[in-house]
Amino acid sequence: MEKYGGAYDVIVAGGGVTGCCAALAAARQGVRVALIEQSGQLGGVAASVGRFPWNGFWNYQEDRQIVGGIPWEIIRCLQSEGEEAETHLDPVMESLTDVNGPLLALILSELLRQAGVEVWYHCLAEEPLVEDGGVRGVYLRHKEGRKLLGCKVLVDATESADMARKTGCQVVCGQEGTGRTQVASTAIMLGNVDMEALIGEIEKEPKKVRPRDFTEKELEYVIRSLRESSLSCIGTFRRQVEAAKRDGLAMPDRDMISGTIYPRRGQLISVAVKVAGVDPMDAAGYSRAESEGYWQALVLYRFFRGYIPGCQGARLEGVSCRIGIRETVHIRGEYTLTAEDLERGTLFEDTIAQGSYIMDIHSPDHGGVDPCTELPTYRIPYRSLIPQGMEGLLVAGRCISATHEAMSGFRVIPIVGAIGQAAGTAAALCCIQKKEPRQIDAGQIRTIILESGGILG
Ligand SMILES: Cc1cc2nc3c(=O)[nH]c(=O)nc-3n(C[C@H](O)[C@H](O)[C@H](O)COP(=O)(O)OP(=O)(O)OC[C@H]3O[C@@H](n4cnc5c(N)ncnc54)[C@H](O)[C@@H]3O)c2cc1C
Repeated sequence: MEKYGGAYDVIVAGGGVTGCCAALAAARQGVRVALIEQSGQLGGVAASVGRFPWNGFWNYQEDRQIVGGIPWEIIRCLQSEGEEAETHLDPVMESLTDVNGPLLALILSELLRQAGVEVWYHCLAEEPLVEDGGVRGVYLRHKEGRKLLGCKVLVDATESADMARKTGCQVVCGQEGTGRTQVASTAIMLGNVDMEALIGEIEKEPKKVRPRDFTEKELEYVIRSLRESSLSCIGTFRRQVEAAKRDGLAMPDRDMISGTIYPRRGQLISVAVKVAGVDPMDAAGYSRAESEGYWQALVLYRFFRGYIPGCQGARLEGVSCRIGIRETVHIRGEYTLTAEDLERGTLFEDTIAQGSYIMDIHSPDHGGVDPCTELPTYRIPYRSLIPQGMEGLLVAGRCISATHEAMSGFRVIPIVGAIGQAAGTAAALCCIQKKEPRQIDAGQIRTIILESGGILG
């Protein structure tokens, strides 16, 4: 075992959008940064299948952009490579921005390279090194063996708070009291969809287009955008789901199926697979979930081809490389963000990110999605990133200190990216000022975020 004690100032565990934004933000403050990613690709869920919609840059009701900073810079980079990366406004989903997954992985790699971040691919961040009540390094697990990388601050951007959990930090699994977590899904991407036939079918019963009563004006907009936007949401196909179940197709436990269509490309993605209770830190359970997810994905593919107009000749163009996990645990931090905070738009002095995406719970208890709660612009405080009782550690992404319901709102990609940017900025300030995360003045984090194009209201 080799020790590089103090070789890095900041280490980020997990190379999804959250982790990449954290690593970039830290490196841009001039400190030495490493990012550890267990796979050979950056981007996490957002790059796991050919195209993936990013929800949350825009507040639909207020008709204004509310997330900027590094997440928006990534979109601009995609555009500079020839992608349209259109942002489509939607009365339920607020906004969807069209992101090409493989190109995202390349852009993230290039941004990190330019910023001087050392990426340790194919390395599992196995265990943090804790000394004197604080994290001072990370043990990696690689085919080569086990390695220790030293650091002053660790940002945990794993999808399941792996590092925080292994320090013994207190966590809450899913919903307080019940332990229920949102279901996990394997995504499928279909190509060669006859959009004329598919949209024509939806237009026959426009009121059933989505699980929500739209006003006439909203409905007209939603239907028109099926033809005019480069991406749109579709659903619910309840009649077809019932027919498939009657015919004995072993459908995922859903009473409706939704998806995102890309009319100009003849493509469709669906994340309607439903696997409950998945935790990547349970090896056997995680493996069973992958098998179950792949099985349901195959059934879903058969369903689209067999029952949905326009999809008879559809081809499978992509399956997510691993099951997408919406929720595992939430750390107990210095502040726990609640549904009420989101509903009221509570103002925090230490706001480091904001959002307005709906509370959107893919429930393990029934065959649908819990009714979405519309929200004003809400804020995320820095204190929710700081675990109680542990120094040298910040948590970013969907495992920050929040309730199950609150997390269902801010879990979308632009918002977790903005949280990552704040965590990376704070970690760099710790190194520069020789302080622990809880001693950092959030005002300084905010100033740096605002100077780099972030939007904090
Ligand atoms: C099925 C599904 C559908 C979704 N749909 C949408 C949508 O339509 N729009 C939207 O905006 N959001 C959507 N979301 C939410 C959003 O995708 C995620 O919340 C977001 O991608 C989280 O980003 P992240 O970087 O925090 O985590 P992830 O994307 O999960 O990335 C975590 C990264 O960390 C790595 N990692 C994990 N543990 C370790 C370790 N111990 N060591 C090293 N590396 C590790 C993983 O390999 C991965 O690359 C969806 C989520 C899911 C699961």
